[in-house]
Amino acid sequence: MNLFELIFNKKSSSCSGNSVKPAQKRSTTRVEMLDNIKIQYKKHPFSKNIRIITRPKGDVLVTLPKSASFSRAREFVLKNRGWIKENVQKSALAGAKRADIIKERRKLAHKILPQRLEYLAKKFGFKYGKVFVKNQKTVWGSCSYRNNINLNLNLVALSSEFIDYVLLHELTHTVHKNHQKAFYDLLTKNMPNALEVQKRLKKIKISSL
Ligand SMILES: [Zn+2]
Repeated sequence: MNLFELIFNKKSSSCSGNSVKPAQKRSTTRVEMLDNIKIQYKKHPFSKNIRIITRPKGDVLVTLPKSASFSRAREFVLKNRGWIKENVQKSALAGAKRADIIKERRKLAHKILPQRLEYLAKKFGFKYGKVFVKNQKTVWGSCSYRNNINLNLNLVALSSEFIDYVLLHELTHTVHKNHQKAFYDLLTKNMPNALEVQKRLKKIKISSL
């Protein structure tokens, strides 16, 4: 099972170290919900830094030194909100079988992708027809002549910049059906690093996800 960790202060080592300090007091905890994710804060006598751990069951543990305030830990959590969301999804998926993974991705994709597509379309002034979420093997997305957009449900396994790139790519096809200069001019106008993201996306095989 994969655990993803983020450590606030990399200078000091992990909280499970060989500190000889005795545990004088019980750990103090606090719980909150953020983006539908349960975040549990735990003050730990041996913690030297603030640490975020996303767990396979989909919740998050934040350990912090006794001397650190909950609000400081929360600040760190908010700063890394995107990372947490992403890794909670990844952690949750890592424990499941492939079929379950696809099932879960499909659910997540229906939740995330149409909404994000609508947001980006509004933001950049695109109009499209219907949107479909599919388990495609070789393409991340496509745009039909009627400007219906197909999106690969496996996109949700990627970070948000790849998702935005694919969505903007397909939205740009509502204006330009080919991949000629005008297409890329418009795409990079709306997403200046599009080509660089495209290059990295090309290295990712859908079947490897
Ligand atoms: Zn294209």
